[in-house]
Amino acid sequence: MVNLVAGGAGFIGSHLCKKLLEKNEQVLCVDNFYTGKKDNIKDLLNNSKFELVRHDITFPLYLEVDRIYNLACPASPKQYEKNPVQTLKTSVHGSINLLGLSKRLNARILQSSTSEVYGDPLESPQREEYFGNVNPIGSRSCYDEGKRCAETLFNDYHKQHGVEVKIMRIFNTYGPNMDVDDGRVISNFIIQALKGESLTIYGDGQQTRCFCYINDLIEGMLDFMNTDKSFIGPMNVGNDEEETMLSIAEKIINLAKSKSKIIFLDPVEDDPRQRKPDLSLAKKKINWNPKVPLEAGLLRTIEYFKSVI
Ligand code: NAD
Ligand code: UDP
Repeated sequence: MVNLVAGGAGFIGSHLCKKLLEKNEQVLCVDNFYTGKKDNIKDLLNNSKFELVRHDITFPLYLEVDRIYNLACPASPKQYEKNPVQTLKTSVHGSINLLGLSKRLNARILQSSTSEVYGDPLESPQREEYFGNVNPIGSRSCYDEGKRCAETLFNDYHKQHGVEVKIMRIFNTYGPNMDVDDGRVISNFIIQALKGESLTIYGDGQQTRCFCYINDLIEGMLDFMNTDKSFIGPMNVGNDEEETMLSIAEKIINLAKSKSKIIFLDPVEDDPRQRKPDLSLAKKKINWNPKVPLEAGLLRTIEYFKSVI
């Protein structure tokens, strides 16, 4: 099986490439290095089943593959807000290009969608049937609306052209290979704790997220890709243990044995107050449950950042 992993040099993509190679499959990693880095895949470069292609998926690409995983898109607000138009193009033009490729090749394709399609949700936990509460013109809109449009494209290519699609709504995921400058909360807090700097909470710290360790997510992604072609999702995958950002900051200070303090900065625009997946569909369809407890995942991630900073 030949797999195209778009965004394969990023955080999630690099773990997926590694896992596919461990299963003895071939991997074509396509990345424009907007947020990805070669370091994440340097151990894979000598593997004869691995190929790296520097390419921006907003432009068409012609390759021969059996399966496509679309992970290309900056995922951190700090990163996608730097270039909102490119972020939208990546989700919209990029999806059209990869879906066109799938259609020509009869290749199954998975879209890494996001809990952000629910915006600042008015119901919790979020079920797949919930339409969301999203601002179309705020600072997060390039990401949220781009991902919503991509879901529409995936759904319509399936309905109109019979393309085998899988739409996976990923909730906050963390682990090794996150970039030091990524800007998302777990990497920020761990780096600040290890450097003895103050942990920066945006707002009052009472906003919630649920954090899934990368290995659990990759397992869910591969299991979803292998489901019957009639099941296209969308399907939530993530952890459902809800934490406030204040409790996350305190946990990280303890686990890193740090003397850092916590400071409260201005809240950021349209920051969702709560987020928690309803995982019933993933349980029913792929019998999937997150296994790695938060503390164990955080400890592994702290060890990783100790080795890179
Ligand atoms: P990341 O920023 O580490 O990785 C994204 C990768 O895509 C990078 O390697 C980047 O260089 C590449 N990329 C960006 N634009 C591209 C383009 N136009 N052409 C080719 N490559 C491009 O982010 P991540 O956390 O690994 O996220 C991977 C995917 O999963 C993203 O699509 C993201 O939206 C989705 N997702 C992630 C999370 C999470 O918590 N990590 C949650 C929900 C959804
Ligand atoms: N956050 C924070 N301090 C940071 C980075 C993020 O308090 O240094 C908060 C952010 O405002 C949000 C939560 O942590 O409420 C998760 O942010 P992240 O960017 O990791 O992901 P997302 O908002 O996309 O879920």
